Amino acid sequence: MKKTIKYFYWIGIFVLLFGLSACSVPQPKTEDTINAEKHTADFFAMDTYITMTVYDAQETSVLEIAKKRVLELEEKLNAEDDDSEIATLNHNRNAVLSQDAYQVLEKALVYWQTTEGAFNPAIHPLMALWGFPTGKTRVPTEQEVKTALALARPDKIVLTDEMASIQQPGVQIDLGGIAKGYTSSELIKLFRQNDIKSGLVNLGGNVQSIGCKPDGSPWKVGIQHPDREKDYLGILETQNEAVITSGGYERFFEENGATYHHIIDSSTGYPADNGLISVTIVSPDGTLADALSTALYVMGEEKALAYWQKSADDFEMILLTQDGRLLVTREIAARFETDMKKEIIEKTA
Ligand code: ADP
Ligand code: MG
Repeated sequence: MKKTIKYFYWIGIFVLLFGLSACSVPQPKTEDTINAEKHTADFFAMDTYITMTVYDAQETSVLEIAKKRVLELEEKLNAEDDDSEIATLNHNRNAVLSQDAYQVLEKALVYWQTTEGAFNPAIHPLMALWGFPTGKTRVPTEQEVKTALALARPDKIVLTDEMASIQQPGVQIDLGGIAKGYTSSELIKLFRQNDIKSGLVNLGGNVQSIGCKPDGSPWKVGIQHPDREKDYLGILETQNEAVITSGGYERFFEENGATYHHIIDSSTGYPADNGLISVTIVSPDGTLADALSTALYVMGEEKALAYWQKSADDFEMILLTQDGRLLVTREIAARFETDMKKEIIEKTA
């Protein structure tokens, strides 16, 4: 009798582990997985190419709803769209915000604090000066940079109830460093509400997944190589996570032989140049992954590592340095396949 109980006990543990580490071992076939059909949608929004994939047994309208959700978020958060809530706030210096815009702005201000200014949601005057939003890019004068820098002041943004206000003329919000991560998180939430067990969204290289593939294998996400357009730094196996990369190679212009990219260091007013070429953040929280990919890129290697060491947040990272080193945190090292040599980062405390 005792033996039988023990037997069932071990089967129980096995099933539990099996269930928890679902992607690494073949899944038992259920009605859902056997009948799962691939549905995809792709379109252009948020200034980037977006693809969404779900595996579902039924003909599904969830992708239509998801696309509408992306467009809705773009309409709310895009500072360059005159009718958006953020543009209205920038223009009127007062606005009642929707829950989405309020939440993203609130989080952006939290990351501004935790990253000690590396993530700066009031970067808009500098982005505009460098011409990135309009595409009319140019290198500004030192005096122009100084003037715009004085406006990159998130401390002048105040949130009360669902109202937001800007307390200094000329201070303007730009959520470009966090909006896509919030969007991918919201899409995954929507999939979950619609009972989707397996899916992936890709917003121009910002990837987030739900579950694993129907055959039980994990999703594989290629991390873009900064110098070779069609090549990868490596491939990460992932499930139920966001994998979000920031790099100066994504949007840039050249003038007089020098390159200027779209991630601005708000301690100088110039494109960040602190020794990193690419920063990938891996986390179940897409909003966090997006904000931190931008912030840690600005910080540079030393500060980024220190931030990761002391942070209570749940995230892992892959950093590529200007001198060609690839740093990978221990937790994800085994599932990141690359031809390069990996320097493994361990938690010290
Ligand atoms: P991408 O959106 O190209 O994937 P990022 O997530 O790094 O890359 O976001 C870059 C965008 O973030 C810029 O286009 C700009 O809108 C905004 N941004 C630039 N510098 C900063 C900064 N220091 N802090 C917060 N946002 C920034
Ligand atoms: Mg970002």
